[in-house]
Parts: sequence; structure tokens; C-alpha cells
Amino acid sequence: MKKITSVCPYCGAGCKLKLVVENNKIIRAEAADGITNQNQLCLKGYYGWDFLNDTKLLTPRLTQPMIRYQKGGKFQPVSWDEAISYTAQRLSDIKQKYGPRAIMTTGSSRGTGNETNYVMQKFARAVLNTNNVDCCARVCHGPSVAGLQVTLGSGAMSNSINDIENSKCLLIIGYNCADSHPIVARRVIKAKENGARIIVCDPRRIETARIADQHLQIHNGCNMALVNAFIHVLLEEDLYDKDYVARHTEGFEEMRETVKDYAPEKVELIVGVSARQIRQAMRTYAAAPSATIMWGMGVTQFGQAVDVVKGLSSLALLTGNLGREHVGVGPVRGQNNVQGACDMGVIPNQFPGYQNVVDAQIREKFARAWGIDPASMDDQPGVRITEVPHLALEGKIKAYYIMGEDPLQTEADLGLVREGFDALDFVVVQDIFMTKTAEAADVLLPATSWGEHGGVFTCADRGFQRFEKAIEPQYNVKRDWEIISLIASAMGYPMQYENNQQIWDEMRELCPQFYGATYEKMGEMGHVQWPCPTIEHPGTPYLYQDNQFDTPSGKGQLFAAAWRKPAELPDDEYPLVLCTVREVGHYSCRSMTGNCAALQSLADEPGFVQINPQDAAKAGITDRQLVWVSSRRGKVISRADVSERINLGAVYMTYQWWIGACNELTQDNLDPISKTPETKYCAVNISQIEDQ
Ligand code: SF4
Repeated sequence: MKKITSVCPYCGAGCKLKLVVENNKIIRAEAADGITNQNQLCLKGYYGWDFLNDTKLLTPRLTQPMIRYQKGGKFQPVSWDEAISYTAQRLSDIKQKYGPRAIMTTGSSRGTGNETNYVMQKFARAVLNTNNVDCCARVCHGPSVAGLQVTLGSGAMSNSINDIENSKCLLIIGYNCADSHPIVARRVIKAKENGARIIVCDPRRIETARIADQHLQIHNGCNMALVNAFIHVLLEEDLYDKDYVARHTEGFEEMRETVKDYAPEKVELIVGVSARQIRQAMRTYAAAPSATIMWGMGVTQFGQAVDVVKGLSSLALLTGNLGREHVGVGPVRGQNNVQGACDMGVIPNQFPGYQNVVDAQIREKFARAWGIDPASMDDQPGVRITEVPHLALEGKIKAYYIMGEDPLQTEADLGLVREGFDALDFVVVQDIFMTKTAEAADVLLPATSWGEHGGVFTCADRGFQRFEKAIEPQYNVKRDWEIISLIASAMGYPMQYENNQQIWDEMRELCPQFYGATYEKMGEMGHVQWPCPTIEHPGTPYLYQDNQFDTPSGKGQLFAAAWRKPAELPDDEYPLVLCTVREVGHYSCRSMTGNCAALQSLADEPGFVQINPQDAAKAGITDRQLVWVSSRRGKVISRADVSERINLGAVYMTYQWWIGACNELTQDNLDPISKTPETKYCAVNISQIEDQ
């Protein structure tokens, strides 16, 4: 029996654990003393390894390469040589015929690790010659990255997970940490025990609201109006730090002009809470000696998400809550390595280390390192994942190489996504399970899983952490970066790596922010937070020390914007708002947690639709009853979960269930900047199943 140190493959809390292995089988997980989790795990950490035993509870493991030679035909098992040469030939043909930008690729924010993401974006940029590489950050914290890069300079948490408990005020908006990051939720409880004031802004009475000093039970879809009202109060009641604003910020007058129409008394009807509550929240936030803002998908999955993120950072700038311990802004990243995928340049506008693709000098640096002609590189930002269905239907995207993502389960408006897939000439899926997207592929490339390989993840607070291989893979599978390298070589660009560290060191040499985060340092310290620019540097627990912001002027950018209504409002036919949410025992598209016996036994098909008792009574629905939920785009079966915790006029579903997938109902009103869909708001109807 041996114990292997690893990092949980689920949420961005980055908990360390030990996998206990006997006869090449994992038999249990134990909590380890990681800096973010301190010998604690949630149920996914303790029971989320069972999928490695190929339980076939939800779907079977991909065990060998397969090709479907004809659309509509059957998958045929093939050798790796055949799978690689067929994929390379088809991609080369499409590149030749339609150009590099006709091919889309994805990295993965899940268990594959940073090294693979680096190799995938290199494949896109150096071999395919396109910036068409993206990841699921697009549908979660893409707006946080885009917004914070403009206002503060860095699109990440400015603070550390372990420092949350030391803050004296937590302003938590659109973030249900008890379900999405249970170990972060423990820090919130500790903060409360340490005397922090907790303000929660959320339409539902979520767990955190139960311990909050103030719960602003806001209307769905009002975030920008609420944030504007917050800023209005800080200015009108003279609660802001004038000296800090004068020395460290820009844009004050424009922001003041924008919020002048957002007095709390004027926006009560929009936001659904009283002016007194709004004013009290800002008096508490501004008076605290240290304050932290935390947010999640309830901020970012809206058509006006980037504006709201920028507005939230203005609250921190106005009150001087940046650049020191115990304060900051915290977009708490969802998937375990979604921060890492962005760090590694699996985004269409930036190389690894957040270096812009439109900068000719940066392109030259990467081209030289990769041994290619700079002129062959794409000099424009590439396509975002959420744009693929539209561009496929327009004939502009012809091939899609998808690694460790499941867009046919996780994207908004699945009917549209299916139409887009039908229009593609060639789909390659590299994954560990036969997901919904894998079922639609032309080529299946089976990869090793977390547990079967090691590497580096980045957790939500910018902490690089190494994880180790625990067991030998049982099947005819390969490491993700090895598969990509073989395809690259078959396409005429020789690519060969011996191990993870070789890739990591190549990446470090090209990324000044990450250069000092060596394998050795991660081994010694366990958790190295970027920026870490030199070998001697210990890493950065909080950003913007001395209030030096990474903006062109070095100053924080204040911002507010007029509130826009969500795109699809309830009406007589579809009278309720649908908001997508998380379920604590499951993760993302559920291909991993759905194959873990303990987790599957806690929650099974077809999921739930949470609804207020009054709305349920109006529709003649009782608790646990099977119901239809329909929107203008589709109709699914779900089970009613009637609860007083749910606000009137709204229902809540997860996107994880294979039957009753709520993304059949959602709509893809995209934020104009980040192209993140508005999955937190669309109009639906709910009805008894007997009536249909
Ligand atoms: Fe894993 Fe997140 Fe749970 Fe920690 S909180 S054990 S990282 S799922």
C-alpha cells in the first residue's frame, strides 16, 4: 500500500489529498495538509476518485482510439498510428482548403494539467497557425478575466484563499460557496467566527445567507443596478477613501456621472431590496478595517457580466481595499484548473502568461522559441467557444479538436450547439469518457486521467501546485500532451517531450510572471502563487502591493455602466426566470462524479428544479413531483424541489443531468466583450407532467 500526494481534480479550491493505492487500485482518499485546505476535504475530495475504477455507472471509459469514417456510421477501433495519421491528414486538408482559422481547438480546465494546456495552445498557434484555442473559462469566469485586466491589470483573485478568514468584512455576490467550493465556505465560516461582517447578495437563501449579517435577497438579473447603487452610496454618503482615490485611481468623474441616477431609493423596484438595506450594506463594507469581495457565476453568467466585474473592482478601489493583506477582490474560479488553463494561454487573445497575441514583439518571442516563422502566426485574437456554433453554421469553422470539454452538455442552448456540430466537417474528441460530445465525434482519442498522470494545477488563488501519478493506466490510452505532440509531428512540426517538467521549463522561459515557479520550488513550498518572476522570489499572496496596478498608467480604473435588462424577460407564456446553479456532490458535465458510486448515490437523475412554494402551488405542483420545464428553445423533465429558500418568480436547475439537461432551455445572449452566455437568466414555464 502506498500514499500518493495529489490535488483534488474538482473545484478551484485546490485541496491537497493523498490517494491510497493498493495493487494499482485507489482504495481511498485522505486529506493532506495543503495551504488552502489544511487537512480538510469536501465529499468530492473524499469520494471523487471512484471513476478511475471504470465503474460504468454513467458512461464507459474510452479505452482505445476509434474512428467513425463516415458521418452517421459506427465507431471502429483503430491503432494509435491510424488514429494519429487520420487526424493529422484531415486537419491538414482542412487547413489547406479553408485556412487556419477554420479549425477550432480547446484546452481543458480539468484534470489534465497545465503542461498539456501549454502544449495544446502551442499546437494551435505553431502548427495550425491560429489563435482559435479556448476553454470553459469562456462560460464561467471569462468576464472576471476581461474586467479585472482592464480595471486592475490582472484577471485573477487578488488575494489568497487562506487569508479570507482574516478579512473583517466579506461582500459575497452571486457566489454559493457551500455548493461550489465547500472548503472555501469553511474560510467564510472562520471569518465569521473571527468577527467578520458578512453581506450576501443573492436571490436565493443560500447557505451563506444563513450566517450573514445582511442578506440582500435581490431580484435575478439586477447586478449592475445594485453595484451602481452601492457606488452611489459610497459617494453620496462620503464613505470612500478620497486620498486613496486621488493617488491610485482614474475615471472618478465618469463613474460619478454614470451612477448619479442610481440612488438606492430609485432602484428599489429593479433590485428588489430596500434603499435602507443597500445603504446599510455599503456602510458596513466601507467601515470595515479590511474587506473582501467574492463572486461566482451569479455575476459572470450574464449578458452584462464584464461591466459588473469592473463595477465590483471599483468598490474595492473606492475604499482602498486592495494591495495589502486581508482585503481584495476574489473571483473564485470554478473548475480545478480553469485558472491554469488561462495561465497557459488557452484563451484566444493571449499567449501563456497573459501576453497579448496582437503584440508583434511577443509573437516574435514565441515564434523564435518554437522555431517557426513569426509571419506564419495568427496576429488577431481567435474564436471563442461560444461563437463556434454560429461560425460553424456560417461555414467559417470546419473542424473542432476538443480536449477534455463537453460542449454538447455544458453550453447554452444545446439545440443551437447541436446544429453547429452537425455543420462541422470533422470533430476530434480527446477525453477519458464517452461524453455527449464524444458521441458526436469523428475521431476519439482516449487519454490518461487524473490519477494516471502528474503535472501542475493552478488553484483559484493563483497557486501552482504539483500533483503526482498514483496508478498505471489500465487501457490503451496516452497522456494528453503526447497525443497532441504525435499529431503535430504527423502534420510536419516535430514535437517531442520526455516529461512534464521539460514542458513546464519551456513555458517558464517564455513567461516572466511564472519564471521563478520551478518544479523544485513547488516541491519545497507546495504552493507557489504567481507572479513569481525570479528563482529567489517566494511567490505573491496578494496582488498590487503598494497599490501599483498592472494597467498602462499604473492606476486602478474606476468604472460604472448603465444597467441593461437581461435579454429574455418572463411573460404570460413563460412566466418564470430560470437560473442555472451547482449541486454540491457533482461537478461540471458529471462524466467524472457520475461514475463515482458514493457521489452518484447522493443525487441521481433527473436532477431537480428548485421552486418557491407559492409558484409551485400556482402551477399545481407538489414537492418531488416530476414536472415539465419548457422555454422557447426546448422542454425537459425534472423533479420539483419546493423550498422556501427560493425567491418568488424564479426556478433553479443544474446543467449536469443527462436527462433533463437545463441547457436545452438556456439561451446564448453573450456578453459583448467576454462572449459569456447569459445562462443565469431565461424565461421558462413549469407544468405538471400529467397535463402533457
Ligand atoms: Fe475538491 Fe473543491 Fe472539495 Fe476541495 S472543496 S475537496 S478542491 S471539490
